[in-house]
Amino acid sequence: MIARAAFLKGIAGATTIATGGLDLWDPLSPQIRVLVATDARGETPQVYADGTFGFAGKRWRGAPSTVGTSDGKFALVTTIDVDQYLQGVVPLESPPSWPAAALEAQAILARTFALGRRSLSRPYDVQANDSDQRWGGVDAEHPASTAAVRATRGRTLAYGGGPASAFYSSCCGGHTADSGSAWGGVAFPYLRGVADPYCNPAPDYRWTRSTGLDRVLAAFGARTGGTLVGTALGEPDPSGRPRTVSLLGTAEATIPVAEFRRALGSDLVRSSWLRAVRIDATQAAPRLVIEGAGRGHGVGLCQWGARFFASSGGSAAAILAFYFPGTSVTNG
Ligand SMILES: [Zn+2]
Repeated sequence: MIARAAFLKGIAGATTIATGGLDLWDPLSPQIRVLVATDARGETPQVYADGTFGFAGKRWRGAPSTVGTSDGKFALVTTIDVDQYLQGVVPLESPPSWPAAALEAQAILARTFALGRRSLSRPYDVQANDSDQRWGGVDAEHPASTAAVRATRGRTLAYGGGPASAFYSSCCGGHTADSGSAWGGVAFPYLRGVADPYCNPAPDYRWTRSTGLDRVLAAFGARTGGTLVGTALGEPDPSGRPRTVSLLGTAEATIPVAEFRRALGSDLVRSSWLRAVRIDATQAAPRLVIEGAGRGHGVGLCQWGARFFASSGGSAAAILAFYFPGTSVTNG
């Protein structure tokens, strides 16, 4: 058993054969390669007979191998049945206590995303962190999430005969974002944004945060003349999200919201939907107060909306049809 899942030491670009823990190729659950760690030459995975292995204090699934990367480092990559991978992804994205239909919608999207990342030009398909989707391995798995993965086996989101772009974020704030406004380029018809009546009980549906002006000036002071005395929001896009923030000092800086968020951090600027940005000068040290709606980029599925949509009886297919109009779910 252990020999079948032997730890293979590959070379750059090498294709490794993965059979660890899997006796049959499952056409409904193809394999993907997940990058678990980079520069992984110091620690050797401990392969167990049940198709799992230990690495960096956690237990993972699949057949591990090390491959050289183009920048001269070593990467630990595991080749794994996509559904076994999803068992450790879905519970980190949607709490297992949420209704089954919400977990199933998440499983279909995460599967679509992972399979869409398959690439012959890299030694892996997805990274096990936020760069793609967080994968927590065996320890993150939960029976409710695993049930959702199994119930949706083989099913993905499709548009126009091909895979759809499966974006999702925590809470849209009441209207999902247009992908073209959020990231530039032309939006797919199914990513133009929809009014969402479901997510208003979410914790970040409306939020207010503040920070000292020094932090704002550290980021943008060079463009405002080193001072900040006024603010304004720019014109909204069709979803209601202002496209820019203007900061006024001795000079005026007009900043795209995405850049404003990147510079101040996503803990402070929790979404790309700003509702007000103002200076509170009532305190000894003036602060910049930021009010907004939702959490995350807002494109595609709203996870909190999916939760409450499911609570009101919506199926996974109905949830996905609502957030991605014009798409369909393939039959597994
Ligand atoms: Zn929403």
